[in-house]
Amino acid sequence: VARRPSAPARRMIEVERLAKRFGDHVVFEDVSTRIAPGEVVAIIGPSGAGKSTFLRCLNLLERPTSGSIRVNGIDLLDPRTDVARVRQRMNMVFQSFNLFAHLTALGNLTLAPMKLQGLAPDVAHTKAMALLRLVGLVERADHFPDELSGGQKQRVAIARCLAMDPDILLLDEPTSALDPHSVSEVLAVLRRLARGGMTMIVVTHELAFARDVAHRVIYMDAGGIHEEGTPAAVFEAPRRPRTRAFVDRAGSHRCRVVSPEYDLYAINADLEAFCNRHLVPRGTRDDLLLVVEELLVIHALDLPAAPLELAVRCTQPSGRLVVSCEREGTRPDPLADPRLPDDFGVRIVRRVAEDVAFHTGVEGSRLEVRLRLRESP
Ligand code: ADP
Ligand code: MG
Repeated sequence: VARRPSAPARRMIEVERLAKRFGDHVVFEDVSTRIAPGEVVAIIGPSGAGKSTFLRCLNLLERPTSGSIRVNGIDLLDPRTDVARVRQRMNMVFQSFNLFAHLTALGNLTLAPMKLQGLAPDVAHTKAMALLRLVGLVERADHFPDELSGGQKQRVAIARCLAMDPDILLLDEPTSALDPHSVSEVLAVLRRLARGGMTMIVVTHELAFARDVAHRVIYMDAGGIHEEGTPAAVFEAPRRPRTRAFVDRAGSHRCRVVSPEYDLYAINADLEAFCNRHLVPRGTRDDLLLVVEELLVIHALDLPAAPLELAVRCTQPSGRLVVSCEREGTRPDPLADPRLPDDFGVRIVRRVAEDVAFHTGVEGSRLEVRLRLRESP
């Protein structure tokens, strides 16, 4: 976080009172914001909040119903504005890559610069190779999209956008169709672009990435920009209840365990996905899986009679994991249960935990385990 340069003060994009309706359906109203050159803005919010529609309005894939968008002083909604030119300067990366299947990675990068910018083939080639190098794919230059992994395809798509020398990169959930490994590849490329000063507006549900890379976070909900601010403000001290609820939900993983024959592999896979999303270091993730496995064994003594609500929360800004085990009713401390055959599991929990707390009362029982913080790998 400390190495993040502060956002410059000049403005590049000025959005004033933008509204978009589809028939009677108001997607958003009264959206106003400014984006400075070199600024990285993350847009977050629930599905259907209008995040994609907002991005699509910015580069005129959708026509806004009212309001204005100015980019470097040029009014985009003026009928005389050259829309194709606007799209080149605000190029968009989609969730589904949209590469040309019949062209190699290199061919995907050289096509538009030759056709739209009139670049000579050798110039376009040299530039494309430099961009493939930037995204780590020189080796794959001659591969076709179906010979590339999802992460590689998305990196080609990003490089293809950059080939048009955009002023601004718009990215609509660029990692949501990817496996965890590919997610890290693509986020690493986006980090690098951000550090290089690229202006980016990225719709993402990778909150850890947004916290790490964005200068500003916009939370969209309820027909507009519901809250915006620095990542620290929005994630750690959201002012509005909807923002808080969204951030809390996105920062935690819950599962309900009802049977003593619970599917440990499925639970572990969900926890691993959660850890990937929150950039949890490998050692901490292993601690988490270990602790959860033991907590499940311990709580299984009361299953199916007393269903377990297991929740894992990633607290900010420390990134510390907290596991909580909730059950209905007043209960004795499960870590002191005399029915346990040995204290092996309890010892593991206590070794990995920094702190273990148990509360019980008529409103329910809750065992909370805060994992020790390990240094990053
Ligand atoms: P998000 O990206 O935040 O999930 P979207 O921008 O895709 O949200 O959609 C916002 C709302 O606009 C949704 O209710 C969606 O159904 C509606 N919507 C999006 N595109 C269209 C369209 N072309 N026609 C009608 N309704 C649309
Ligand atoms: Mg969307």
